[in-house]
Amino acid sequence: MAIRLFDSLTRQIRELKPSQPDGVFRMYCCGPTVYGPAHIGNFRTFLVQDVLRRLLELEFGADKVKHVRNLTDVDDRTIAQAKREQRPLAEITKHWTEVFHADCRALNLLPPQVEPTATGHIAEQVEMISELLAKGLAYVAPDGSVYYRIAAFPSYGALSRIKERELKVTVATADDDHKDDASDFALWKAYKPDEDGEVKWPGPRGAAAGRPGWHIECSAMSRKHLGDTIDLHSGGEDLLFPHHENEIAQSEGCTGHLFSHHWYHCKFLLVDGAKMSKSLGNLYTLDDLTAKGFSPMAIRYALLSGHPRKQLNFTLESLGAAEKAIGTLDRLLERLMYKFGHFPRASPSNRFAGVLTALRDDLNIPAALGTLFSAIASFDPESESTDADFAAFEQILKVFGFNLRIALRADRVIPENVVALAEKRWAAKKVKDFKAADALRAELTAAGWSMLDGKDGYKLEPLKKA
Ligand code: AMP
Ligand code: ZN
Repeated sequence: MAIRLFDSLTRQIRELKPSQPDGVFRMYCCGPTVYGPAHIGNFRTFLVQDVLRRLLELEFGADKVKHVRNLTDVDDRTIAQAKREQRPLAEITKHWTEVFHADCRALNLLPPQVEPTATGHIAEQVEMISELLAKGLAYVAPDGSVYYRIAAFPSYGALSRIKERELKVTVATADDDHKDDASDFALWKAYKPDEDGEVKWPGPRGAAAGRPGWHIECSAMSRKHLGDTIDLHSGGEDLLFPHHENEIAQSEGCTGHLFSHHWYHCKFLLVDGAKMSKSLGNLYTLDDLTAKGFSPMAIRYALLSGHPRKQLNFTLESLGAAEKAIGTLDRLLERLMYKFGHFPRASPSNRFAGVLTALRDDLNIPAALGTLFSAIASFDPESESTDADFAAFEQILKVFGFNLRIALRADRVIPENVVALAEKRWAAKKVKDFKAADALRAELTAAGWSMLDGKDGYKLEPLKKA
C-alpha cells in the first residue's frame, strides 16, 4: 500500500512518490527561527515531519529520502533580539542553534541531510532576486528595497485561495509607502541603521545594501540543495499564507518550473485550549517539561499523539498518560527481547500489521497508536508472540522514533558481528557440523556473549562480568 497524504494545494489526499528518475524523494521543511528556545508547538511540527520521513525511508530506502530543513538566522525577529541583548546577531543565533540541536537529539529527531542557514546563502538569495528583477516580477522601491510584484504572477493565491481584496487587507504594513501595491512583499530590505545594527550585505544590482526578506531564503535554499522541483514542502499551518504562497511565487516565477508536487501543513499545538504565548504563561519548552520530571520520549509521544491535520490540545495530564504508554511499550520490548534475544525476522503475518497501514493513510497517527495498543492488549507476549511480531514491533518503534530505555541499555544492544557469529553457528548446528559450531561458540564467548540453544531458535545473552 502506497503512502498517501493530504496535499494543501489540491486539497486532496494524494500518493507520495519521488518524481525524479533517481528515485530520491526530496523534502523541504521550514525550520526554526533561532533567536530563542523552540517551544513544544514547533516540535509538534518537526516531530510529525520526522515520522513522515521515517515512513518514507521505510518505503523508498534510507538513502532515497533527502530531507532539507533550514535555520532562519537573519530576519526581523533575530535582528530585534540581537538589538535587545546588545550582542552580535551571529552569537545569538549560534547559541540558539546549539540549544535547538540538543533538544532535537533528546527528542530523537533524525538530523536533516542538509541544514542550510539564511546567512550562509546570501549570494543564492541575491541571485534569485536578480533573476526576478530581470524577469519583471520584482522592482526596486525608492528606498532601495526590492519587492515582488504579485500582479505579475497570475496564479498568486492558488495555495491559500486568498482573494485579491482580502489580500490587501491582510498584508497592509508600515512599509506600504514604498510599495507599488499594498500586497507586494519584500524580497530584500534596505538597511535601516537604527534597527539593523551591523547586519547588512551588498544587495542585488540597483538595490541598496541590506538583508534578504524572510520568504526568499527557503526558495533559494530549496533550489540549491534539492533542485527546481521538489516532492514535498511542509511546515506548520501558519506558514501556508503568506510564507508558502510567496515561496511559490518566487520559485516558480524564477525557474518557470513547478516548485513542489505536494504541500503539507501540520495544525497547531494548543496548550490548555489556548494559543501558546509568553504573555499567557502557557508556552513550554522541552527544558520546562523535563524539569518537571517528564522524559523526552513521553514528550515525543504526547506531541505526536493527535492527528496532524487537527489542532492538538496539550495538557500536563496528557504527558502523564504518555509516560504510561511509553512504559507499556518499554515492557513489551523487554519481554520480546528476553524471549527472542536475537535480531528478529520480518514476516507479513504479525499482530501489528494495521499500524503502518494507518500511517500510510494520510499519516493517521491516532489510528496507528490505537491499533498498536489494542494489538498489545490482545495477546500474551510470553506465550503467544512470534519472531515476526517482534520484528514488526521494532519496525513500528523505529518509524515512531520511540527510543526506549530497554533498547538503550548497553547489554541489550547486540552488536552486529555477534549476531553474524550466532547465525553462522546456528547454521553449522543445523547441518550437524559440531566442530565448527564449537569453534564459533568460543568466538562468541571471547566477544562476551553466550548463546542458548532452543528447539527452533537461539537466544543471546551477555556473559556476566566477573
Ligand atoms: P518558527 O521558529 O516560528 O519559524 O517556526 C518553526 C516551525 O514551527 C514552523 O513550521 C511553524 O509553522 C511551526 N509552529 C509554530 N508554532 C506552532 C504551534 N503552536 N504548533 C505547531 N507548529 C508550530
Ligand atoms: Zn520556509
